[in-house]
Amino acid sequence: MIRTRFAPSPTGFLHIGGARTALYAWAFARKFGGQFILRIEDTDQERSSEESVRAILDSMTWMGLDWDEGPIYQMDRLDRYREVAESLISTGHAYWCFATPDELVEMRESQRRSGLKPRYDGRWRPENAVNMTLPQGVNPVLRFKNPDSGHVVWNDLVKGQISVSNEELDDFVLLRGDGTPTYNFGVVVDDYDMKLTHVIRGDDHVNNTPRQINVYSALDFALPQFGHVPMILGHDGDRLSKRHGAVSVMQYKDEGVLPDALLNYLARLGWSHGDDEVFSREQFVDWFDFPQVSGSPAKFDAAKLNWVNGEHIKRQDNHLLAQTILSSNLCSKTDWECGPDLATLIGLLKDRVTTINELADSVLIYYQERPISDADRTKFLKQEIKPALQNFYDALHDAEWVRPAIAACLKASLKDFELKMPQLAMPLRLLLTGQTQTPAIDAVIEIIGRERVLERLKIGLSNI
Ligand code: GLU
Repeated sequence: MIRTRFAPSPTGFLHIGGARTALYAWAFARKFGGQFILRIEDTDQERSSEESVRAILDSMTWMGLDWDEGPIYQMDRLDRYREVAESLISTGHAYWCFATPDELVEMRESQRRSGLKPRYDGRWRPENAVNMTLPQGVNPVLRFKNPDSGHVVWNDLVKGQISVSNEELDDFVLLRGDGTPTYNFGVVVDDYDMKLTHVIRGDDHVNNTPRQINVYSALDFALPQFGHVPMILGHDGDRLSKRHGAVSVMQYKDEGVLPDALLNYLARLGWSHGDDEVFSREQFVDWFDFPQVSGSPAKFDAAKLNWVNGEHIKRQDNHLLAQTILSSNLCSKTDWECGPDLATLIGLLKDRVTTINELADSVLIYYQERPISDADRTKFLKQEIKPALQNFYDALHDAEWVRPAIAACLKASLKDFELKMPQLAMPLRLLLTGQTQTPAIDAVIEIIGRERVLERLKIGLSNI
């Protein structure tokens, strides 16, 4: 069975780059009826926080990236790392290193001075340390005895074959002085113990993979498949950062992006299925596979995300959109009883917006009194228009309350007073909504409802 995972370090919110990596791992498991595991890599105790764990779980839940196992915390598995470390020591693949931090700095500086690449020189390898006396008061770290020669080669699901010479790698740390595992060690023990078949992660980890593969070999663990997904860049080609705008998943929620739209946009960023730009989460799961994932970084385009969001809003069921608005804190003080049916109104307005926040703004005016600005009053509510407005108001009294009948009244008034549509529609928009931009006025009148329309027009007319 296919088993994939997402293994964030809880050192901040869920970045959209991380979310996209999680999305690919999740979709791959879902497509093949496999399992998706969530692991929290919290061994960097200084930088990890409960708050970040919460933020990551909330973001994944909001995006609908459900997991089958976890969250599993690395800090709950320290005994297991210790046990595997012992077995590496016993087979001669790991050794304790007593070099002090100052000593390591000095070692690297002297390597640099001699024009060498800074790397750990193996001074505490058992064969080199035979005559060394153990220094007092140093907490040793456990190092991996990396092979000195040969190449590490793997077939990356995204990048194809990658080969790295062991001469590029040094004896990296497995256990820190405090006994916690480093990333490169914990990840191997976990990916193996959790029976992962595919390790999907950001390509900032490509350099770590050969070290991990060497540990797999030393332990005689079967290798999973690796797939390294390219970074997401800002519009200027730099690595995406706060300076490019929103980078956290929850910020997009706050800005009124639908989870399915963010999923669609992130999925498409670096992966394609023909010319399809707008698709559902089910379609994505059905279509996703690694050959169509691009090996080069994609640029984040906020305008396109907005467009995709608008398309998802158009396609989404009106009642679901109403629920999204009602459960947000966008309209907490609104009295929904004093206006039209929300879902029906949404149906009328949703084609004109690209975010839920804009949709909320555009529905709100139908439930709130909106003062008319002086400038609009002077421009559109002139004395000359009053007789035509009055005529329309009278006609509406007896009209059937359906859009064609309302349109017919409107047409009759226009004809009688020799007016063009905007000359009557603009004052009506203002009197009924306080706005100069609304959908077709006959539709607006229908949806606001007879009682409210007649009352608003009556008050409006008395003020002209
Ligand atoms: N904790 C690592 C990160 O957040 C995970 C890398 C991996 O998936 O192996 O970058």
